Amino acid sequence: MQMQRADSLRAAVIIGGLGVAPDLDLLFHDHRGPAHSVGAAMLVAVIVGLLARSWRWGLAAGLAWVSHVGLDWLGVDNAPPIGLMALWPFSHDYYQAPIHVFPSVSRSFGLPEFWARNAAALIVELCVIGPFAAVAVATSRWRSSR
Ligand SMILES: [Zn+2]
Repeated sequence: MQMQRADSLRAAVIIGGLGVAPDLDLLFHDHRGPAHSVGAAMLVAVIVGLLARSWRWGLAAGLAWVSHVGLDWLGVDNAPPIGLMALWPFSHDYYQAPIHVFPSVSRSFGLPEFWARNAAALIVELCVIGPFAAVAVATSRWRSSR
């Protein structure tokens, strides 16, 4: 039982890490480019699937990656090019959802509105995503207790 908990925690950390990994493109000054695409998600799925020798791990990794793409697609983007290169390598166009669920975030640490704007964005994200995470945790605990 203790080992299962450690395995579950490790899996959650890995999948969670893959869910935020597309933003590593910030390090390369190509934010919302190919890393924010279904093509990158497919590549990650194949690589993780091969490394783990498990199609389930590959699928989970790909879904974690593409969930980031989907959530960013639903967010406001004020920095050109607007949107994300969601369909790379099939298209190099940038896409943004016609409706915006998530407010924009500030990446300008020195601006006075940085903290308030990002705190407001975090609250919206927690309100939208939090219930889904709570259901996932609750059902996981329920399944493991059976
Ligand atoms: Zn992103």
